[in-house]
Amino acid sequence: MKTKLLYHENSFTYECTARVVAVEGDEIALDATVFYPGGGGQMADRGTISWDDRCYQSNVIALNKRSDVVWHTLDCIPPSVGTEVVGTIDWDFRYQMMRTHTALHILCGIIWREFGVQVTGGQMYPDRARMDFAMENLDRERIRYIEQKVNEAVEADYPVRVYTLPREKAFAIPDLIRTKINLLPPEIEEVRIVEIVGLDLQADGGTHVNHTKEVGGIKITKTENKGRINKRLEIVLLDM
Ligand SMILES: [Zn+2]
Repeated sequence: MKTKLLYHENSFTYECTARVVAVEGDEIALDATVFYPGGGGQMADRGTISWDDRCYQSNVIALNKRSDVVWHTLDCIPPSVGTEVVGTIDWDFRYQMMRTHTALHILCGIIWREFGVQVTGGQMYPDRARMDFAMENLDRERIRYIEQKVNEAVEADYPVRVYTLPREKAFAIPDLIRTKINLLPPEIEEVRIVEIVGLDLQADGGTHVNHTKEVGGIKITKTENKGRINKRLEIVLLDM
């Protein structure tokens, strides 16, 4: 059993028809889904699943990906195996996640390019996002400089490309090694790459916008010391 991950094929698909292939309690598995189950710092999608020509509709209140299957937790009695359903994600929420996720990759690329510093973690929230860096010195001047460089990259409208590479090929790319690609489980043969062409390259399972201009712009709202050589930056999108 395997779910076709439509969010990986095209992050702009917000709705799909699919068939129920398994039911476990209040969770259902579909043969295909547009719901991003969460991971890599990106929050899981929200939305609805409807069936019988939309006579029945349930909210998707949680998502879980277990091996190759995405499980959707419903808040009502689930449809039975074989039922054709329509899955619809909350597009405003998802698009905001996509913009925020790409913003973090821009930030990551800028900090690497300007300071040669690695990311140690990151998390997105509905209204903000944070990223941790192995950086010793982060003063006011540097914060403003980073913010300015990120917004210049947004304006420069770099294309964002998503593709897969065979494991050996991916492991040979120096830019990917810095993002701890070596931590990928050994059974993964194909590595999904998200590239902001000319700026950043990462092994990534999330959803992104197509061009950096879609991010709109960012503001660094907060910084925190997370140890001597670990700093946290919090950002918001300019229109949030
Ligand atoms: Zn990412």
